Amino acid sequence: MTDALARLAADLVAIDSRSFVSNLAVADRIEAELAGFAITRIDYADAAGVAKRALVAHRGPPGGYALSGHMDTVPDTGWTEDPWSGRIADGVLHGLGSVDMKGQVAACILAARGMPADCPVTLLLTTDEETTKLGAIALANSDAAKALGLQGIIVAEPTGLIPVRGHRSQIEFTAVASGVQAHSSTGQGKNANWALIPFLVELEQIHARLRSDTNLQDPAYDPPFSDFNLVLDNHGTAVNVTVAKATARIKFRRSRNVDWQPVVEAVRAAAKRHGIALHERAEGRPPELPSDHPLIARAVAMTNTPARTAPYGTDASELQELAPCVVLGPGTIETAHTPRECVSLAELERALPVFQRMLSLGG
Ligand SMILES: [Zn+2]
Repeated sequence: MTDALARLAADLVAIDSRSFVSNLAVADRIEAELAGFAITRIDYADAAGVAKRALVAHRGPPGGYALSGHMDTVPDTGWTEDPWSGRIADGVLHGLGSVDMKGQVAACILAARGMPADCPVTLLLTTDEETTKLGAIALANSDAAKALGLQGIIVAEPTGLIPVRGHRSQIEFTAVASGVQAHSSTGQGKNANWALIPFLVELEQIHARLRSDTNLQDPAYDPPFSDFNLVLDNHGTAVNVTVAKATARIKFRRSRNVDWQPVVEAVRAAAKRHGIALHERAEGRPPELPSDHPLIARAVAMTNTPARTAPYGTDASELQELAPCVVLGPGTIETAHTPRECVSLAELERALPVFQRMLSLGG
């Protein structure tokens, strides 16, 4: 089993599927592992026109439980060794996507394949998880996935096999101030930053309020305050040029029990007051199940570990439209999104019986 798991995980790592390239090659490699499964391909083009594919794979009677993972990875920022080597040393698989989450996808496939034929098993495999969640959105909206009547979904992101019952999801704001580009010495230009600054002052107040106002916080999360991260961009303007375009991007991540509408309205009102163009893009609502929900209670019983919440996001914000979700998978996010990304093969293998016990609840 270890050999098959290591080989498949390393093969998946070896295929470049950074979110901005097509994932068709890795989807084909996965399909080749799924003989005997009914497979539905959910094809779409992303905003850049790149061909993408999510997969629904099912075997057995309808209903039951699904294992889910994403096929895309973050960019190879900072890597000095080959990110796609799939190098294995001392029982550790190295490479981009090894722990987030091609190793887990391989474990899901082996767990599903090893189930008895009369037990319903489903794999929900997405892409664009690291960017827009478009794969999960397309999958959740597909007739193929809806028709399965799933009872629950295990999103196999690396949690150290601790059941995660809820996490935050995000609203991304893009605010753009416009100016007129000119040689700054002539006095003919108009610098967009001067329009953006009073808007930013209001954003700073919102940020401070999120940190201090306990009515906007959720003690079930660590940290209890929402993420409200600001990134500024003058698009490479030189210092002797008036700025034609000043962009502020804000990632607002909140949990289900935070009343986020006042925050969204404050951002909108500030943009309106200062003549800033505002674009919003929201993920699905934050997924969260109570500790005594049957899916969480079963995951807790099977892992012997209390459930917790997490500050990050996963495809569960979209897949919860199909069925209740628990985030539960091997490995930790310590090396995810770093140029040292790796996963222990022994940890991946330890997840197989846990996944199979969860799947057997549907039989
Ligand atoms: Zn991930």
